[in-house]
Amino acid sequence: MRRSEMDRVLEVKNLNKSYSRFALKDVSFSLPEGCITGFIGINGAGKTTTLRSILGLVKDVTGSIRFFGMDMKGNEKQIKNRIGVVLDSDCFYDDLSLEEMKKILAPAYSSWCDQDYRSYLERFSLDPKEKIKNLSRGMKIKYSLALALSHKPELLIMDEPTSGLDPLFRSQLLELLRDYMEQGGKGVFFSTHITSDLDKIADVLIMIDQGHIVFQEDKDELLDRYRMVKGSKDDLNEEVRSLLLNIHETDFGFTGMTCHIPEIRNLLPNVLLERPTVEDIMLSHTKGGIKNAAEFS
Ligand code: ATP
Repeated sequence: MRRSEMDRVLEVKNLNKSYSRFALKDVSFSLPEGCITGFIGINGAGKTTTLRSILGLVKDVTGSIRFFGMDMKGNEKQIKNRIGVVLDSDCFYDDLSLEEMKKILAPAYSSWCDQDYRSYLERFSLDPKEKIKNLSRGMKIKYSLALALSHKPELLIMDEPTSGLDPLFRSQLLELLRDYMEQGGKGVFFSTHITSDLDKIADVLIMIDQGHIVFQEDKDELLDRYRMVKGSKDDLNEEVRSLLLNIHETDFGFTGMTCHIPEIRNLLPNVLLERPTVEDIMLSHTKGGIKNAAEFS
């Protein structure tokens, strides 16, 4: 069965939210069941606002938000029981120990499993007697994850969990997500502007830029569909320009992204076509982005 025909764990339609200098504009997307979906976009693109809006943490949001086929309005408690959330700004009491905080949060979930909770703390080397205020940022994320996973959610939603964290934590997180997905019937929605992790693990990518959804696509299909074109300035005629999405020109040549691979091959048989990374694709769809993509490469 194609992903487009699978059940949706989350369906968002025409989400709108305005701040004084930023707005989400008719944001629509859906999360297929059984997939890790990466939510990408540069700093300030609207990832956190979208995630907080769909979770009912932001006021004056319009649009339709349906989790597991249920409207968020009227089913919030039931829905929140089935999702695990790891947000950037936590809502813990700093003076409590991990154990004390857990005792406050756990009763809200009908499927809370204390055995799972203890094993996650052990896996993350977290001491239950430690005060929350003494945790580093990485340890707080691990603690949030332990809490989120211990009520056996069907959908795990994480906002920038790897931002500012070391490679060891990032690889532990990827391993944890793989284990979680292996249980079956699970989904992950994971926002990030550090896309290298998604190259390895995401099934589907949704990109947001300036409050608009730019695309939602199967990651492998997306990476197959695009190529980075690297050529000399002489190659860059009007026809080639029209086939490129953003162009970065230097004194010697140019770099551009294309989804017109056969046409480019035909016009420029000797040009270099490179398979892009998720970051290349994200930056080429971001206003002014290809310059950065070329500089990073
Ligand atoms: P990052 O990767 O940096 O976390 P993001 O994609 O998550 O970025 P948001 O945090 O959603 O982006 O912010 C989008 C825009 O909305 C930013 O310009 C931000 O300043 C603005 N914004 C967010 N929250 C508020 C608020 N409470 N009041 C006014 N503006 C806000």
